[in-house]
Amino acid sequence: MENIKFNFNDKNVVVTGGASGIGFKITSSFLQAGAKVSIWDYSQEALDVAKKELAQYASQLHLAQVDVTNRQSISAAATSLPWAVDVLINNAGITRDKSFAKLSESDWDAVISTNLTGLFNVAKGLFEKFNGSSAQKRIINISSVVGLYGNFGQANYASAKAGVIGFTKTLGKELGRKGFTVNAIAPGFIRTAMTNAMPKEVLTGMEAKVPVARLGEVEDIANACMFLASEQASYINGTVVSVDGGIVL
Ligand code: NDP
Repeated sequence: MENIKFNFNDKNVVVTGGASGIGFKITSSFLQAGAKVSIWDYSQEALDVAKKELAQYASQLHLAQVDVTNRQSISAAATSLPWAVDVLINNAGITRDKSFAKLSESDWDAVISTNLTGLFNVAKGLFEKFNGSSAQKRIINISSVVGLYGNFGQANYASAKAGVIGFTKTLGKELGRKGFTVNAIAPGFIRTAMTNAMPKEVLTGMEAKVPVARLGEVEDIANACMFLASEQASYINGTVVSVDGGIVL
């Protein structure tokens, strides 16, 4: 599938969790569209691999080892940023799936602190680094379809992703007058390295539930991010864009 063609030539983007999966595709799509991108990711190893894979964009790329649950690492990364920010994509996330009866306090805490508090930490830590004169300031938060509808075995994850939606709507109200739009994307079931490792019959079963008869691709999420980040989306604020093939219809 081809990316939508956008021009982000003079725009600077931060993508958390940008070294792998959906975040990597978001990163490479913005780079391809001319943006400068800073990847903030947890593991130095993943950052090194991403740097190699994105070597053709070296002059547009900045990388920082960041744990979104650690405010000091965010502050250090914000200080090291070589440019002011136009677009923040809050994408980093984890799962610790268990039914409620088996869900431990640490499973709850890890997911809430990464998938919800992490977004607050990053938005807060970067707020002063946004380009004050940019008319196209964007915060795009990656939620999930399960944040809208819940899911068996994901009380922690669904709660965090629902919280992301409340956070998005509130920032949309508060920051709209300051030249920001703040939106969330709720992906459905997206094909990544993790899902590709699942048994074929499970994937086929998932596909059968999606009205458009396929799983989502990382490009589907990257395209939605680029559209929401674009000038053309300047009147879309505080909303949740479901990118799920209609799975919950
Ligand atoms: P991946 O696990 O492939 O990528 C997540 C990235 O976030 C990894 O690079 C990971 O680093 C990084 N990360 C995790 N914890 C932290 C942290 N504390 N600080 C900084 N970086 C961190 O996941 P996906 O690409 O599948 O998911 C991306 C986002 O999309 C997530 O928010 C996820 O919840 C959401 N989503 C995904 C769906 C799917 O079907 N894949 C469906 C709906 C939503 P490392 O690998 O080093 O831990």
